[in-house]
Amino acid sequence: MEHFDFIVIGGGASGLVSASRLARGGCSVRVLEASDRLGGCIQSWRTEGDFWLELGAHTAYNSYAPLLEALDERGRLEDLLPREKVGYRFVTADGRLQSPMARLNFFEAALFLPFGLFRAKAGRSVAQWFSGLLGQGNYRRLLAPAFAAVLSQRADDFPAEWLFRKKPRMKSAPRKYTFTGGLQGLLEALAEGAPFSVKTGAPARTITREGTGFHVEAGDESLTCSQLVLAVPVDVAARLLADLYPEVARRLAGIPVVASEAMGVVLPAGKTALPPLAGLIGDDDSFWSVVTRDPVPHNTLRGYTFHFRPGVLDHAGKLARIAQVLGAQTSDFLHVAETANRLPAPGVEHAVLAGEVLALLEREPLALVGNYLNGLSIGDCAERAVIESERLLSLKAHLAPTAATANVNEA
Ligand SMILES: Cc1cc2nc3c(=O)[nH]c(=O)nc-3n(C[C@H](O)[C@H](O)[C@H](O)COP(=O)(O)OP(=O)(O)OC[C@H]3O[C@@H](n4cnc5c(N)ncnc54)[C@H](O)[C@@H]3O)c2cc1C
Repeated sequence: MEHFDFIVIGGGASGLVSASRLARGGCSVRVLEASDRLGGCIQSWRTEGDFWLELGAHTAYNSYAPLLEALDERGRLEDLLPREKVGYRFVTADGRLQSPMARLNFFEAALFLPFGLFRAKAGRSVAQWFSGLLGQGNYRRLLAPAFAAVLSQRADDFPAEWLFRKKPRMKSAPRKYTFTGGLQGLLEALAEGAPFSVKTGAPARTITREGTGFHVEAGDESLTCSQLVLAVPVDVAARLLADLYPEVARRLAGIPVVASEAMGVVLPAGKTALPPLAGLIGDDDSFWSVVTRDPVPHNTLRGYTFHFRPGVLDHAGKLARIAQVLGAQTSDFLHVAETANRLPAPGVEHAVLAGEVLALLEREPLALVGNYLNGLSIGDCAERAVIESERLLSLKAHLAPTAATANVNEA
């Protein structure tokens, strides 16, 4: 049975940044990914020629420093593609495009802003804090649908401190970027020529104790490790830990998860008259948001991913609504793809639960990384991956040497 210093379960942003950090000092690291591709929520759909369209996450920022540092280690910073500055529009009930600013009542904003800005975000929901910032009318008309578009779910009950957290920027990188072949290319680049090994098509089934470490069964792999990183969605983590860490698993199972339904379409550039846009915001519509390929324009094709609310429209209904918004015919669509996305939906009470989980694992050779403990963005995930990797590495110094490391040391 092969032994590793670290096994990382999950090959999304959290897992790959963790693996990069853990492998830096020469430790042996294996990443096990259930699906046949890396990326998780970052899913770049490659259609024809050089065309790709994001079915999941679409934008990264230069404040995602730990992600960029990992990419720099692979020597691939030059493959970042800056995103052109194009705006967002609301789609009104009667199908018009409306600028977000047209929804802002400046008088109401001016009344609230001077006091709203200085209230603590901790312990307040998004609805509470942002209504206090710009007024309830502005929150309802502008911010609530805009945040729902970003999060692909209602954002009202979200912890306010999860949004717009300030992080140091890597100023040498573009402020907003994607990657050659789409954002998924960035995660693939982290794994190419990396000092860790990756196995795709290897869903972890069971984790059991093996001495002071763990034994993992995943796909056709049966491996042991000294320390373990779980970089899987929260409900998967709860299931995998049910027997081993029941107190942790019980708390994770209490974090709600919501789904959204993505449908991407690609059509010839001349078939829609929509102006270049980064995206559209639905307002009480069947979709939360639309993400476009326009920030990285293509000569002949345009692409749109609609993030639909779950269970509202069937396949034909989605195609018809997309055609209506684009002012095109469904027969104009050259390619159509569908996928489901799932994200955690924490409430304000989440901080307490997250604190309890972290306290339970403080001295354990197990790290939980992902988008359900301190923020959803790729940057939040990367930040958490680094914090937990550093914790495990310092714990490693206090653990008894494993058979594998003992052999290396003797050699
Ligand atoms: C539609 C959408 C748009 C978004 N847009 C943005 C954006 O523009 N910018 C931004 O910063 N963030 C965005 N986000 C959020 C961000 O993309 C995610 O929160 C982040 O990528 C999550 O990364 P992760 O590695 O923690 O989890 P995931 O990406 O969910 O990765 C978990 C991985 O674990 C694997 N896995 C599951 N079960 C097992 C198992 N049993 N064994 C092995 N592997 C398993 C999965 O296949 C997956 O690859 C968006 C999210 C969505 C859904």
